[in-house]
Amino acid sequence: MPGLILLAPGETTEFPTGHGRIRFRKYGRDGREFIRAAVHVEEPSVDGESRVALATLRPDAYPYAGAWLAAVAEHAPAAADHRNPEAAPASVRLLAEMTRTHANGVPRHSDGSVSWSVPGASARVWPDGRVEVQRAGCVVLAVRLEGSGWDSARVAAVADAGLRLLCAPEARHMTRTSEPSGWAWSSLWAGRSFDGASEAVCSCGWRVMAASRLGARGAAAEHVRKAVAVAPC
Ligand SMILES: [Zn+2]
Repeated sequence: MPGLILLAPGETTEFPTGHGRIRFRKYGRDGREFIRAAVHVEEPSVDGESRVALATLRPDAYPYAGAWLAAVAEHAPAAADHRNPEAAPASVRLLAEMTRTHANGVPRHSDGSVSWSVPGASARVWPDGRVEVQRAGCVVLAVRLEGSGWDSARVAAVADAGLRLLCAPEARHMTRTSEPSGWAWSSLWAGRSFDGASEAVCSCGWRVMAASRLGARGAAAEHVRKAVAVAPC
């Protein structure tokens, strides 16, 4: 990633990633500068469109720009078009891994956006494809995702990546376990069967299925112990 701080106002630079290229351009001067970063897919569509995201970054965000935009490029759809994303903010929130339990439902703002927070950072997603992740109001990672290929899972991955970059250390491994489906009638066995399986999920992306919720909780606790031992923070 180029040294964004060194870029002169009006200057443009391009950086390839394994998933497409990112074009940076700096605007403004005298402490009020910012950078626009456009993420492009490898192959333009028939009408020449190749841009899938446009990010706006102020100097506070420069240290995170490389990892943030690499994540946007990684999760971007393979093709660009001029349409709006197909993601729905509430679905994005439900699919996100960097989130607390959904027990209280997913509140929606009057503009249709949905926001949530983890220790140290928060994310907000709008129906038009705007995603903002911020840390205590100072570092803001803002991007507008463009194209109908952006489904809820892809947008959730982008929000997750931003939250992982800005969250407090204790938010890097927040685990939760799923409710087992329990007793169910089975036509196959002509009777009731019990499904006690539970999935343990961590905010870092780790997940595992266990035969019981107790087992899932144990696996989650073990994961956090190991993760913290490897990377103390
Ligand atoms: Zn974890």
